[in-house]
Amino acid sequence: MYFSDFGFDDDLMDGIDAMGYEKATPVQEQVIPHIISGKDIIAAAQTGTGKTAAFLLPVLHRLLSESHDHHSVNAMIIVPTRELATQIAQTLEGIAYYTTISFISVYGGTGGALFATERKALEAGVDIVICTPGRMIAHLNMGYVKLGGLRYLVLDEADRMLDMGFYDDIVKIISYMPPQRQNLMFSATMPPAIRKLANSILVSPVEISI
Ligand code: AMP
Repeated sequence: MYFSDFGFDDDLMDGIDAMGYEKATPVQEQVIPHIISGKDIIAAAQTGTGKTAAFLLPVLHRLLSESHDHHSVNAMIIVPTRELATQIAQTLEGIAYYTTISFISVYGGTGGALFATERKALEAGVDIVICTPGRMIAHLNMGYVKLGGLRYLVLDEADRMLDMGFYDDIVKIISYMPPQRQNLMFSATMPPAIRKLANSILVSPVEISI
């Protein structure tokens, strides 16, 4: 399937072209239509399969085609590591280049100046936040993060996050979110702890394994 077949927003298509993507990968082909139709999903997908664009493209498309709250975070992507946050931000920068979508990555191990920059964005509202759990909790504990308009939650490499002990942090972050939202969960493996997390977060999910 070619990206031109999905009916994506024109500015988003320009970004896809600039990235040199032509045909969807198998995970993209399976996941994108469900996300566009508003379903929760749980997908077993490894790194290197194109899973990042599989969730970024349809979330961007929906943000661009619906009116959204500019004074809130609209989509949150929670990831286990700073490296993954940086990789996702790079892909997002490329595909969203011709759009008006704003985004920020928020992860631990950086100093006070960056924390202040993050705070500003989280307080004023930013379309997409890519974050690691601990750093997000630090901001949420201070009470200024605007999540009233949050409609998309992505948990990427969920099994790794549980391995790193982030279960309680994830549940806590989600407790700050409005219940009316679309939840997308990606995990390389599906052990019982992932099933448990999925059961507590996802609503009638479509299950995808490649
Ligand atoms: P990921 O599995 O998300 O880490 O993606 C692996 C690599 O494939 C990244 O460098 C992406 O930019 C690239 N990629 C993702 N989707 C496509 C596609 N449909 N065509 C070509 N490259 C892609």
